[in-house]
Amino acid sequence: MEKKTVLIIGATGSIGTQSIDVLKKLDGFKLVGFTYHSNSDLAMKIKSEFPDVEMLSTRTELDEFEDFISHLRPDITIVAAPGFAGFELAYRAIPYTRRLSLANKESLVCGGKFLKERLKSNDVELVPIDSEHSAVFQLIEDEIERIVITASGGALRDWPIEKLRFAKPSDVLKHPVWSMGKKITVDSATMFNKALEVMEAMELFDIPFEKIDVYVHREGVVHGMVFLKDGTVKIHASVADMRIPIALSLTYPERSYEFPKFPNFSSLTFEKLSRERYPLFFLVDSVKDSYSLKTAFNAADEIAVQAFLNEKIGFMDIPKVVERVLEKIDVEEAESVEELKKADEEARRLACEITKSC
Ligand code: NDP
Ligand code: MG
Repeated sequence: MEKKTVLIIGATGSIGTQSIDVLKKLDGFKLVGFTYHSNSDLAMKIKSEFPDVEMLSTRTELDEFEDFISHLRPDITIVAAPGFAGFELAYRAIPYTRRLSLANKESLVCGGKFLKERLKSNDVELVPIDSEHSAVFQLIEDEIERIVITASGGALRDWPIEKLRFAKPSDVLKHPVWSMGKKITVDSATMFNKALEVMEAMELFDIPFEKIDVYVHREGVVHGMVFLKDGTVKIHASVADMRIPIALSLTYPERSYEFPKFPNFSSLTFEKLSRERYPLFFLVDSVKDSYSLKTAFNAADEIAVQAFLNEKIGFMDIPKVVERVLEKIDVEEAESVEELKKADEEARRLACEITKSC
């Protein structure tokens, strides 16, 4: 049988490198191309392991990326680049591929409507990589009562609330469950990551906000649950290793990846989110119905997190900056990707102004 060809957007990152690891272990798939952004050393290393593979730095114009992918036409495109940039690349990739294996959450959060229309008109499949969404994807049925996605609580989950404002980047970057890129690790501690994930789930499964619950689940074993009408709850559990959902996003609907570890647990706990500890999460309610506001929400967080990592603002300033941007921004509902981009740029400009960091 012909091997399925794979392109990775963002191969030098956390999801990207784990995707390469999975591809080495799976039969039936062939890496044909990858992109990186600035880590040319790691890109060269990947290239030396896969000499026939083509690579491109995305520090170029989007049109160059489109030329690159239109020439490769991969069966599967793994989208492992972060932020709004990841959405733009995913959007551009759609006409030239058969399946998007999507790690980037901003694609659905900021551009869900546009992305889904383009997927449909090009008859392209979407399989989520984000672990909670992969879990729900495996459990979902037509008629559901509600879904649950779990959260680790982030690196500061046990810090006294009054001390949170003193947290340093080095404190926040020690994630208790997952090993991930810096931005998403900070977003786990503020619960911004879960805010994105709730909106990602709304788009992916066509579920209203009210039917999605989030629980802090310390053990990191259960990733998602689906509550059915007859009182049954289907629960997805696995060891916390992104290679499992990455592999499934390639092999789906088959499972051929062998991962010998099973989760080791003696009890499973689920706690409600604290508004005081995670104020950023609770801003979802004010942005969830507008793609322009969701885009602004995301852009403001990107700038605020960067300012925090550069020690320009404190940890508890992150939600304040995002809230200020949402108060100040004046955007119409976007009718096109270009208009979304304007909301993204305007929110960045405001967040830069507020943080005085860029
Ligand atoms: P990393 O920061 O580890 O990696 C990002 C990758 O994208 C790198 O290859 C980087 O290139 C490239 N990149 C950076 N900036 C840009 C840009 N502006 N345009 C194009 N490519 C760029 O991130 P993660 O792997 O942690 O996350 C990637 C995406 O997956 C995010 O959207 C995240 O939310 C999502 N995700 C991640 C999970 C995880 O476990 N890490 C879990 C679920 C979802 P270079 O390094 O060469 O500069
Ligand atoms: Mg996740």
